Amino acid sequence: MSFRIAIGGFLHETNTFAPTKAEYDGFVHGGGWPPMERGADVVAKIRGINVGLAGFIDSAEQNNWDLVPTIWCAASPSAHVRKDAYERIAAVIVDDIAKAGHLDGVYLDLHGAMVTEHLDDGEGELLARVRRIIGKDVPLVVSLDLHANITPAMAEHADALIAYRTYPHVDMADTGRAAARHLALLLGTPRRFAKAFRQLPFLIPISWQCTNDEPCRSIYADLAKLETDAVPTLSFAPGFPAADFPDCGPVVLAYGNTQADADRAADAVAKLVTDQEAAFDGRIFTPDEGVTHAMSLAATARKPIVIADTQDNPGAGGDSDTTGMLRALLKNGAKKAAIGVIVDPEAAQAAHAAGAGQSVTLALGGKSGIPGDAPLTETFVVERLSDGRFLAPGPYFGGSQMNLGPSACLRIGDVRIVVGSRKAQLADQAMFRFVGIEPTEQAILVNKSSVHFRADFEPIAETIIVCAAPGAMPADTAALPWTRLRPGVRIKPNGPAFASRPQ
Ligand SMILES: [Zn+2]
Repeated sequence: MSFRIAIGGFLHETNTFAPTKAEYDGFVHGGGWPPMERGADVVAKIRGINVGLAGFIDSAEQNNWDLVPTIWCAASPSAHVRKDAYERIAAVIVDDIAKAGHLDGVYLDLHGAMVTEHLDDGEGELLARVRRIIGKDVPLVVSLDLHANITPAMAEHADALIAYRTYPHVDMADTGRAAARHLALLLGTPRRFAKAFRQLPFLIPISWQCTNDEPCRSIYADLAKLETDAVPTLSFAPGFPAADFPDCGPVVLAYGNTQADADRAADAVAKLVTDQEAAFDGRIFTPDEGVTHAMSLAATARKPIVIADTQDNPGAGGDSDTTGMLRALLKNGAKKAAIGVIVDPEAAQAAHAAGAGQSVTLALGGKSGIPGDAPLTETFVVERLSDGRFLAPGPYFGGSQMNLGPSACLRIGDVRIVVGSRKAQLADQAMFRFVGIEPTEQAILVNKSSVHFRADFEPIAETIIVCAAPGAMPADTAALPWTRLRPGVRIKPNGPAFASRPQ
């Protein structure tokens, strides 16, 4: 006999400090994710890509499960999800499941850090509503982003929550397969695993959540070794530390044959993380410190020093147009340096109007009103022009066709600047090459990205430095104006504990 499984997806990463909310339309278009799909198109359009649902579909088809698709949608990271957007999408999931007839299980592809205008815990409420429809006996399994802020309600209403283990997230589809593997243990049997849920006592800045580097590389390797027949599923979610509500922060979750099995595994993973608290508190340089440090390293390096201009990361709310790092390169006389992408359609247009080989005086970038940032007015040499279309073959974009619109390489002194007209995170070497800059031949590269660039740049980098120039996403979690965290949680590794402020 074939098992009938309802499936759906609804993903949003909410930065409650960001300026712009997520509208229903943002979920219709997807903004970097595939657009919204309903019914049979959910399977047809999502199959084969790197998202949780696609991996689940792959495993389900191999298991000959009968899938009942509801909706799949996601929107770009931003401030809160609008109430009407949440209620419309949640209603589709709940109503489709209610109308589905007999079900043997439910799988949902969620992010885990969704805050709405009316709910702190978008996923916890959604899972509660689904649970009310399906009753306590039908298994409900969920894949989550590594940046999930997992809440007690989410853990209570799901039979299993399983988070990605990579950042950059190269295992989204694999996490859907892991959810299918866990669900297979539950289908057609009354067996349910004991749960152990641990909230950890300090926020982890995203720059130090990268799983290619320590401490996360070893933590996830050790976590995988702790999964056994007695504890089939274990997760560590470092969290998304820009959501101002009591359950923001890292969580460990374990599912075991017995409560003792689950508790032992969860405590072991929690210890792996808390023992490394100091290692999560990496150095964040000021622009001048970062550039002078990079220049001194470059004097003897064989490969480029790569600087993450992390606070202007367009993947976390930045506009990719701030000038702080460019100013520091110029002020300190950096040689053989390149920075990208500064998104400025007016500057790109001026470069195209002037023509390659010409000089042009213009006010570059700095147009998004970030405090402490401003356009940089200088005379630049137009070295190369491009229509902005090229292939990004590195592991993050994975062969995507890019279109940055009219683009140029501008040079001032020995500093080259990639100027584009459309936003994209600098996470592929091709984003320098398309305007004639060979990244491997530079002494210093400045990338407007926090972590995703590492997938393609670590192989060519001597070392990576994180700098905090004025931007939209503070690299230091202690710099955010928190008001509603759990009392006692440390607002950065080894940092001060949050105390609710007197009214
Ligand atoms: Zn994420």
